[in-house]
Amino acid sequence: AAVSTEVGGAIRAVPDFPSPGIVFRDITPLLSDGPLLRTLVDALAATYSGTVDVVAGIESRGFLLAAPLATALGLGLVPIRKAGKLPPPVIAQPYELEYGSAVLELREGALAPGARVLLVDDVLATGGTVGAAADLVERAGGMVSAVCVLIELLDLGGRAALAGRRVDAVVAY
Ligand code: 5GP
Repeated sequence: AAVSTEVGGAIRAVPDFPSPGIVFRDITPLLSDGPLLRTLVDALAATYSGTVDVVAGIESRGFLLAAPLATALGLGLVPIRKAGKLPPPVIAQPYELEYGSAVLELREGALAPGARVLLVDDVLATGGTVGAAADLVERAGGMVSAVCVLIELLDLGGRAALAGRRVDAVVAY
């Protein structure tokens, strides 16, 4: 709880970015705060220690949290990337965006069968991104133990898109 308050205090709300009417949550002040970043990563590592086998980070801001968390847990990191970034062979998962669609990819063979995966991203908004990543993990033979996001935007109802999977958010707006 103390960590949530501190982290919340280090996230900047930027009105009308990237477009009018959107309040963008900027995590860069948090990333710049060394002691707070360490406190956050240690708290998350304590939460998941012994319950997951691998950490999967979603491009690109998810990587910023997934990598130190994997290191703190002593686990490997699997990148889930936007289309065309990973060399073949990959498993691809298309998903809908507000305008149009996108594709996430995972290296084929990146997950051991039945691997317990901790899925990490910065923000849960509509849940489209994390939902697609979770589907990808499961198609690749892994199990989503938990979804960990720094920020959950409650109005957008992203949890519903995650169909019963465990979702942990450090702060919610
Ligand atoms: P969703 O797919 O859940 O609608 O959107 C989540 C994705 O959009 C995340 O990968 C996240 O990086 C990005 N995103 C949406 N809103 C924000 C925001 O306010 N701040 C940041 N940093 N990222 C956002």
